[in-house]
Amino acid sequence: MTGPSGPVPGDGPFKPLEGRSFRFACHPGISCFTACCADLKLVLTPYDVLRLKNRLNLSSDRFLETYTTMETGPGERFPMVLLKMTEKAGRPCPFVSPQGCTLYEDRPGACRIYPLGRGSARGGRETYFLVQEAHCLGFEEEKTWQVEDWLADQGLEAYHEFNDLWMEILTNRASLGPATHAVKKVQMFSMVSYNLDRFRQFVFGSRFLDMFDLDQGMLDQARADDPVLLRLGFQWLRFALFGEQTLPLKPGLEKRA
Ligand code: SF4
Ligand code: SF4
Repeated sequence: MTGPSGPVPGDGPFKPLEGRSFRFACHPGISCFTACCADLKLVLTPYDVLRLKNRLNLSSDRFLETYTTMETGPGERFPMVLLKMTEKAGRPCPFVSPQGCTLYEDRPGACRIYPLGRGSARGGRETYFLVQEAHCLGFEEEKTWQVEDWLADQGLEAYHEFNDLWMEILTNRASLGPATHAVKKVQMFSMVSYNLDRFRQFVFGSRFLDMFDLDQGMLDQARADDPVLLRLGFQWLRFALFGEQTLPLKPGLEKRA
């Protein structure tokens, strides 16, 4: 996924795709196998965090504390979470082994989509480009892929669905209001995006349910199912941060909103 200031195809390793096909294969027999799983600045999306903490059977707090750092880039208003590389020589990813990724089925979206990059999907067909790193020998393999086949093979559908919902929040330029409100709104953003355990406590342990007229079936699912809870969280963020009417208020509260 690339944001509004993401890479431009034709720049450095970024190459336009000829048609919608490319030559690539990555497998244990290749001499560079796992070389790319080190020294990365790997931004984790909310759906990445969800999949990783569940795979590792950790609470959100424990996962964030053990495996990530958080930083807000210059000019950005929302913090990003990055996967912490280890301190070993070459700074390998904490999840890499000589046999490959130890949590392959739940690896982050960025690891799945390589060697493709994804342009904005808003308002039209998704665009893709190649990310051709010099050290990657996968481009010398014979296998040819169509973009759609690669995306399906790498299981990217859910990642893209949730990333698109998140991008609607990240790229919204509406004001967050006075500084004190903005600080609170950034905390709300971080809670939903990265700490679903805390958001679940907030939904089911605060006045949240007194405010919103929500479908009981959906709420029952959200109690136990992180993706359902994350979808609700994104709707609530649009309501709470930008005043969008994404969640129905309880009768009698509409006039006060
Ligand atoms: S450098 Fe390329 S071919 Fe080598 S392991 Fe990484 S993705 Fe696979
Ligand atoms: S999460 Fe897995 S695929 Fe991604 S960098 Fe780490 S070891 Fe490699």
